[in-house]
Amino acid sequence: MSSSDCIFCKIASKDLPSELVYEDKHVVAFSDTTPQAPKHVLVIPREHVESIMELSDKELAAHILVDVIPHIATNLGLAEKGFRVVTNVGEQGGQTVKHLHFHILGGRDMQWPPG
Ligand code: 5GP
Ligand code: ZN
Repeated sequence: MSSSDCIFCKIASKDLPSELVYEDKHVVAFSDTTPQAPKHVLVIPREHVESIMELSDKELAAHILVDVIPHIATNLGLAEKGFRVVTNVGEQGGQTVKHLHFHILGGRDMQWPPG
């Protein structure tokens, strides 16, 4: 899928609306429209990257994992009790949108193993 067909590229550029939770020069985060937990936020790079298999920018990877996700989780009030971070990859991984995204899920007890 090219980036012009990509709904998450359109959300990042604000051509599609979203409930924005966080944004900076490199990253956008917004509420999932079909939340799987009381708090369910998607964190995406502005740049179209299909999945972590195509993620070559280590600074971007570190920014998302070290800076952005802990910051959002703290703002959502999830830091104390904990939360889950998931990135689905490819068909068997259950990835339905082919633009890299990290789910932040929290506000309830999580189960393991995941479905
Ligand atoms: P995946 O299944 O690829 O790991 O996750 C895709 C997620 O994107 C799903 O949780 C789905 O609910 C969410 N999603 C799909 N389309 C939209 C949309 O247009 N806006 C928002 N905010 N979330 C979406
Ligand atoms: Zn995209």
